Amino acid sequence: MSPDPLPLRPELRGQAPYGAPQLDVAVRLNTNENPYPPPPALAAEVRAQVAAAVATLNRYPDRDAKALRADLAGYLGHHTGHALSTDRVWAANGSNEVLQQLLQAFGGPGRRALGFEPTYSMHRLIARGTGTSWVAGSRDPDTFALEPADAVAAVRRHAPDVVFLCSPNNPTATALDLETIAAVYDAASGAASGAASGAASGAASGMVIVDEAYAEFSRRPSAVALLTDRPRLVVTRTMSKAFAFAGARIGYLAADPAVVDALQLVRLPYHLSALTQAAARAALAHAEDTLRTVTALRDERDRLVGELRGLGLRVVDSDANFLLFGRFPDAGAIWRALLERGVLVRDVGLPGWLRVSAGLPVEGDAFLSAVKEVLG
Ligand code: PMP
Repeated sequence: MSPDPLPLRPELRGQAPYGAPQLDVAVRLNTNENPYPPPPALAAEVRAQVAAAVATLNRYPDRDAKALRADLAGYLGHHTGHALSTDRVWAANGSNEVLQQLLQAFGGPGRRALGFEPTYSMHRLIARGTGTSWVAGSRDPDTFALEPADAVAAVRRHAPDVVFLCSPNNPTATALDLETIAAVYDAASGAASGAASGAASGAASGMVIVDEAYAEFSRRPSAVALLTDRPRLVVTRTMSKAFAFAGARIGYLAADPAVVDALQLVRLPYHLSALTQAAARAALAHAEDTLRTVTALRDERDRLVGELRGLGLRVVDSDANFLLFGRFPDAGAIWRALLERGVLVRDVGLPGWLRVSAGLPVEGDAFLSAVKEVLG
């Protein structure tokens, strides 16, 4: 007799966990990481600050991570040209945790989130994990662009409590204009399910989350420019990509101070360890060094786009540190053929397409020769 099954939530039964294969391959271009290791001066500062933090590990860390949030606000203000106070910034263990906290506060049972697929699949999974229902909007099937009129129509039709926009969008690498984001925000005003189901005020409105994990690689301005007078707009960011700090797990957001206050109701106390806070502050002190790699990665991305198009392949216009290329009758077969040649790219489950990250030029060379070989 088989043992009793676990009393798992029904919607989780039989599901597979999220995660790209972590294979030991020479050229790994599958998770959009920054291939440049932390510069020596930054590494030294991280070591020194973490060592100092070790002395007080008997105490809980600053629960509100105030110093780190002030540093993040300074960086974001500098990078976007829009000054931000510390009370508009919140940080957690990766932007995935920030997104989860947002859905814990603004989603949940009886509420729904809308995203425009193909998009970052964790948006849907975090919705599932928090009991939020998911509504899939769509993009132009050929260019993967999100037309403002289509986005607005989807928001009006579904009355979501949370709208996810992703700019640049993973996996398509396409970015949004500020006009589109502003139009979606206006459409989400007074349109959430609370209003649709006849809430007393009739004025429930949806939150709009712009996931800007790849913003530093984009040619478009950040949605931080739109935050003033838009209390339901949230911009999420990460140190995992441009900052070359994925292993440290730091994500953050900028929003109205009331949003940051709301997240205090769902965050776990002391969620950001003293070591994480110290490491992140040390890295932020060297932001200029790290961000120099962004220029190299943008150049590498543009080179890969040009070379792949030169081979007759389709490449979606990219504003990120990765790109979507195809179209293949059997993308899975191409993925395996590249892997046999020591090159790991990402099969994002989009028929005909594969995603590749911009890495070191030598990795790009290996990828391009493998592609040439595979295409014969
Ligand atoms: N948003 C997008 C669009 C991403 O692609 C990723 C990483 N793959 C994340 C958020 C999460 O990154 P992290 O948790 O490392 O900040």
